[in-house]
Amino acid sequence: MASGFLTSPTATSVVKADSTWVKDGKWTQYHKDGKRKVVGTFKNGVYTGKYMSYHESGKKGLEGMYNKFQGKSSDGTKDGPWKYYSEDGKTIWRIITYKRGARTREDEFPLGHCHACGNAVKSPEHVKCPGCGTGY
Ligand SMILES: [Zn+2]
Repeated sequence: MASGFLTSPTATSVVKADSTWVKDGKWTQYHKDGKRKVVGTFKNGVYTGKYMSYHESGKKGLEGMYNKFQGKSSDGTKDGPWKYYSEDGKTIWRIITYKRGARTREDEFPLGHCHACGNAVKSPEHVKCPGCGTGY
């Protein structure tokens, strides 16, 4: 699960487990321009708690939660609603609801779908579908 391009500002963000170093604490991944891209927290090498990712503009792109770390096999799995935000960082265009990493219901698309191709609409000020080019 290690993705080597994650960077962390503190040396206390890794711990030794079974003779290998694993992520522990808050980790941040950055866009090429230096703006934060992903902020996540690890406990003993597995994701735990809040996860956020950001658009290149710096605005919020995704927010979700991982199961609280309790040393169980369900730890590190997605839990609850994961909200995908439009480029404005405020409008939710997709919600995926998880329980222990498995979807518990159909994904929700608050902005609806393109009437021509059926792709989810991702932006409130959408004038042209990026999927098929149809104007709204
Ligand atoms: Zn379309």
